[in-house]
Amino acid sequence: MKTETTIQGLSASLSPARTARKMIGFVPTMGNLHEGHLNLVREARKLCDTVVVSIFVNPIQFGPNEDFDSYPRTLEQDQRLLAEAGCDIVFAPTVEQMYGNKPRLTNISVGGITNDLCGLQRPGHFDGVAVVVTKLFNIVQPNFAFFGQKDYQQLAVIRQFVRDLNIPLEVIGVPIARATDGLALSSRNGYLSAENRAIAPAIYQSLKVAEQQLLAGTVLSEVLQNIKSALTDAGFVVDYVEARTTELQNIEQFDADMVLFIAAKLGATRLIDNLQVKYPAS
Ligand code: AMP
Repeated sequence: MKTETTIQGLSASLSPARTARKMIGFVPTMGNLHEGHLNLVREARKLCDTVVVSIFVNPIQFGPNEDFDSYPRTLEQDQRLLAEAGCDIVFAPTVEQMYGNKPRLTNISVGGITNDLCGLQRPGHFDGVAVVVTKLFNIVQPNFAFFGQKDYQQLAVIRQFVRDLNIPLEVIGVPIARATDGLALSSRNGYLSAENRAIAPAIYQSLKVAEQQLLAGTVLSEVLQNIKSALTDAGFVVDYVEARTTELQNIEQFDADMVLFIAAKLGATRLIDNLQVKYPAS
């Protein structure tokens, strides 16, 4: 496995694969890798000849009071894990390599679906994601790109601009990887104190309880309220608890497949999770 830190170096490393028309799979990450990321790499390995993983903590997707500076950076450990998972090339550029030192005047702003859920709590976040992912797509030029359903709204945003802008690749969504107690794996879980780590699985538990209540016929508004109460009682500060269709449209009652979304804080750590709930076939 090679590590490249420059765009030129990456192009040179990818050149034989491109010439031989090999299928290139790409997994963008911010590093501090866990099984969730490694699952994406394994999916890429199954479908593609050459697997590229980027590790880049993207400054422009963090708000002024967010954790850009303290975000965990663990490149050596990540390289070890990636080699084991079957990655061929790690692309780990500096901020300067990605953004240069001239001002960036172009933005990519996806309407509609970004004015909701995390988009309301984190203004500019999805623009920052769209810009960096587009730049990475242009740099790597993959055939397939792999993203986790953990960040469901992000995946929808990426699918949208790939379609809108005719970016020539296929986006693959990969299911959420969880710890044995149900907590969705996240680099931010490392911020949790031991006490809060023990509370954190309540998010997934509340989603599973909600699913049971919906299937038993409890009305959606009550189910959402029950999640909020359970999380607040457990010690969370709830950012949002919402239900949407799988296409992120509003849904008033459980009459189609839908997704339950939670964002909640434990201390200073903001956690997100979601659960797809299938509408039972009649
Ligand atoms: P990040 O490093 O947090 O930017 O995540 C990089 C990619 O890994 C994104 O596509 C995430 O959705 C995905 N990812 C992160 N955590 C998980 C998880 N627990 N399960 C599945 N995918 C994940």
